[in-house]
Amino acid sequence: MKNPLIITLLGKSGSGKGTQAKFLVKKFGLEYIGSGDLLRARAQKNDFTGKKLSEVLRKGQLVPTPIITKLWLDRVEELKNKKNLKGFVMDGNPRKILEAYLIDEVFEWYGWKLNAVLVDISNKEAINRLTKRKICSACKEIIPYIGSFKNIKECPKCGGKLVQRNDDKIGPTRKRIEWFKKEVSPIINYYKKTKRLAEINGEQAIERVFEDILKVI
Ligand SMILES: [Zn+2]
Repeated sequence: MKNPLIITLLGKSGSGKGTQAKFLVKKFGLEYIGSGDLLRARAQKNDFTGKKLSEVLRKGQLVPTPIITKLWLDRVEELKNKKNLKGFVMDGNPRKILEAYLIDEVFEWYGWKLNAVLVDISNKEAINRLTKRKICSACKEIIPYIGSFKNIKECPKCGGKLVQRNDDKIGPTRKRIEWFKKEVSPIINYYKKTKRLAEINGEQAIERVFEDILKVI
């Protein structure tokens, strides 16, 4: 059987990697593993970790590696047992170098090979996009500050009022960029050293970014 296509997308907040993940899923019929989705689903459970998780997520704090890894591993096992798995895209994993090592061990177990794609934008661009993006106060749709989205005045889904999230103020935004430098840069270097990293210029039109990703996977 052909090897499944397994990609992890890395990039700062605002890089648009989530959008690119959706494009890949659609184009190749891949599965999606988003750490945000896994955590939000787990937070629905009415037990200790479920309750604590909803609080931690609400405050935007980090979730311990074993908690996220367990959820991630359950999902990976589910995919391994899927007939005719074409592959999957990971969005939001790994978040630290420790998780990158764990993922490698797991993939060795399953006999899979991981490809990493970095959607690269400068700190300046990330700050610009994050502090200028808006969220719909009604349906919570996030309107990125890229391309034609820049001119949107009300929510394209429900017509609701667009506002800035507290998390997208300059202080929290700077913190996220610092976190990326501290935690994710070592992961990027690790994948580079092991020759599994493709770097894409994320400061182009969304469609061009996707074209570049298609060239390297
Ligand atoms: Zn809306």
